[in-house]
Amino acid sequence: MSIVSITRVADDRVKEAVQQAIDLVDGLSVMEPGMTVLIKPNLVKPSPSGSGVVTDARVTEAVVEAVLAHNPGRVIIGEGSSVGYDLPGQVDSLTAMEVNGVADVARRYGLAMVDLNHDDPVEVHAPDAYVMHTFKVARTAYEADVIVDLPVLKTHSRTGITCGLKNMKGVLPGYEKRRTHTLGLDRGIVDLNRVMKPHLTVVDGLVGLGGTHTREEDRMALACIVAGTDVVAVDAVCATLMGFDVDEILHVRLADEANLGEADLDCIQVYGERITAVARPFVPYAEAARRRFGSATIIEKASCTGCYGEMESAFLYLEKAGFTDRLKELVLVMGTPDEVPDLEGTPVIVGKCPADYKHLGIWVPGCPPHGIKITDAICDALGIDKAVVHEVIEELHRIEGQAPARP
Ligand code: SF4
Repeated sequence: MSIVSITRVADDRVKEAVQQAIDLVDGLSVMEPGMTVLIKPNLVKPSPSGSGVVTDARVTEAVVEAVLAHNPGRVIIGEGSSVGYDLPGQVDSLTAMEVNGVADVARRYGLAMVDLNHDDPVEVHAPDAYVMHTFKVARTAYEADVIVDLPVLKTHSRTGITCGLKNMKGVLPGYEKRRTHTLGLDRGIVDLNRVMKPHLTVVDGLVGLGGTHTREEDRMALACIVAGTDVVAVDAVCATLMGFDVDEILHVRLADEANLGEADLDCIQVYGERITAVARPFVPYAEAARRRFGSATIIEKASCTGCYGEMESAFLYLEKAGFTDRLKELVLVMGTPDEVPDLEGTPVIVGKCPADYKHLGIWVPGCPPHGIKITDAICDALGIDKAVVHEVIEELHRIEGQAPARP
């Protein structure tokens, strides 16, 4: 029987809820004095705490305090933000830590911060791997005695949900992150966890993201913390909390089949709150995307969240600028489609993956290209006045109080 805890965060008392969730599963029993501990929040991109995009810094701070109580030798906060944030000249994971607020936590407690995208890589071998037999991981993660995984609850364009198992992708250098997308993301996640399985997973369920993560209604406030030493069981419980059938979340099911943990709810004991007491149905990403972007023609295969996320921003900008109706004229090519049929109009070719088709339309280089660059290309393809859209973009970012992530 695997054990997972769910605690409610009442009156913003995050620290108490995190400590209780850890205690209920005896989550740090693995720790001995002097150990090196890696705390790995989800800082997929520079976003503030409370956005639902990233782990709330208050959750990270509560975990830091719980870990420090066990007299570790060294505690490191590490993350390798998503594809694109590893490239030279771009905003990096350390900036994501500053924007999130966790950098301030690290300074107050005297902890090291490591950008795992730029860490020394170590080659590892995954026994019985599905697709990733040999790959590189960040040395800081490889050498840590204890890894504490701090995901936030979100839907995902390709894997249904992203939670504890998928959050471990942050320990891969950028080129290995890209490889998981090419080889098969669900199976790549399982292979990664065969080697780099976290010892404790503490899920930030304060605010998560459903749908395509682009609208206010996508923010899902569950006000809870979920914890467990079996990351597969934690993900199974979280998928259920979000209203998904665990059997339909491929990487969780495959992780169970690979004996990495327990995904069968009948074999998971839940302590604290009942699942039904905190559950809220999240709109699946694909369903929301169909509703929101269905009017455009998207020719794609195996595109990853990097391009999807930036493309969503472009759709949002155009929608806010009043050009939703024009999107039905748009053709986008993403990822690595086997072929691109003859279509009317000028296709927009998004990112380096479909570069072989760049002669067919307007190519936006990058991995991923920035949403504003995609927006500009769409404007050129559809004959939309870019200046009008840029005014809206500036206004949006002024309201959010943050600059566009990667100009
Ligand atoms: S170009 Fe886009 S789809 Fe291809 S690896 Fe980069 S982010 Fe992913």
